[in-house]
Amino acid sequence: MKRIAILGSTGSIGTQTLEIVRQNQDLQVAALAAGSNVERMEEQIREFRPSAVAMWEEEACRDLKARIADTGVRVCCGMDGLLEIASLEGVDVLVTAVVGMIGIRPTIAAIESGKAIALANKETLVTAGHLIMPLAAKHHVPVLPVDSEHSAIFQSMNGERKERISKILLTASGGPFRGRTKGELETMQVEDALKHPNWAMGRKITIDSATMVNKGLEVMEAKWLFDVDLERIEVVVHPQSIIHSMVEYVDGAVMAQLGMPDMKLPIAYALFYPDRRPMQGKRLDFAALGQMTFEKPDLETFTGLKLAFKAAKAGGSMPTVYNAANEMAVGLFLERKIGFMQIPELIAACMERHKVIEGPKVEDILWTEQETYEYIRGQVQ
Ligand code: NDP
Ligand code: MG
Repeated sequence: MKRIAILGSTGSIGTQTLEIVRQNQDLQVAALAAGSNVERMEEQIREFRPSAVAMWEEEACRDLKARIADTGVRVCCGMDGLLEIASLEGVDVLVTAVVGMIGIRPTIAAIESGKAIALANKETLVTAGHLIMPLAAKHHVPVLPVDSEHSAIFQSMNGERKERISKILLTASGGPFRGRTKGELETMQVEDALKHPNWAMGRKITIDSATMVNKGLEVMEAKWLFDVDLERIEVVVHPQSIIHSMVEYVDGAVMAQLGMPDMKLPIAYALFYPDRRPMQGKRLDFAALGQMTFEKPDLETFTGLKLAFKAAKAGGSMPTVYNAANEMAVGLFLERKIGFMQIPELIAACMERHKVIEGPKVEDILWTEQETYEYIRGQVQ
């Protein structure tokens, strides 16, 4: 029996993780955490009977306590609650499926208490990869990728020697605005940006896919997960999202993982690695697919991706600025307070004024985050 805890259980990755639990008797839900969605959390508690849960928002926490008083399940609140869920005794694997940098401290707490990490929350590695990866090595806990591209890379490295990798080919669908001009992007509305061609995901990552900031975050995530230099990571646009990423080796061989776009596969792979479990769902039909196409990313239009390489190259606290500026800008765009192209513009402005802190500690990262937010608040009324 493998006991799992899920941070972000009410979201897109969280609910798909619970679908996998339903299909596998040897997985048990020990703990759950979410932000404010009390209704869904109550349903999950009644179905999976975890021993403890956490809600980030205070009011949601109070409400949940009242709703589930009959169950005897312990409810904790806020950051203390997330930390408690992340380090709960008896948990084998923590699935980090919260959105945003809020994942940093709980992920660290989980590693320090010896839990394996099934990592969906890319923002944590982007901002704190230099702390997380050595810490995981020190505590001998695996960080298993859930993000589909990183799972594909991980699967393409099975049985291979890391020093024989020549490059990582990170595939990108290009999002809903592939092929559009900068002028066209100026006028894009929230509804347009939320229409991803291949994947159904949470709102923030869907907007990140439209700006291609998501691919930028994934470049940095890959750098930390697989310990490869930035120069060895190449983004390839592949609109059909069938090849989930590839690894090229020194002899020119390219290994890839292909499949239908379904996040349940990488989630299950992380939970059962090195095993594979039977899974329902559509299979690839190559004749029906007909062709797969590839192109270079348009870095002049999708400046969000270009800025990610710049932030990664600068290193230190710069990826935190890139990520925090994006988190806040995406929130403002979703609230219709700024236009689509202001997302990369705000990221660029925040990066421009930032003085890099080398080797930032958690406090420096959180300070940089707040400082970036404050600057944007001053810019956008
Ligand atoms: P969703 O927006 O669908 O879900 C986010 C989850 O996080 C919800 O359960 C939400 O709770 C919870 N949450 C938000 N804020 C807090 C907080 N302060 N404290 C505790 N819980 C919080 O996001 P996704 O599932 O799409 O994405 C999650 C992560 O996985 C992101 O980092 C994303 O980049 C990554 N990812 C997602 C993929 C996908 O297919 N969805 C693919 C690859 C990576 P509530 O509902 O109560 O607000
Ligand atoms: Mg991805």
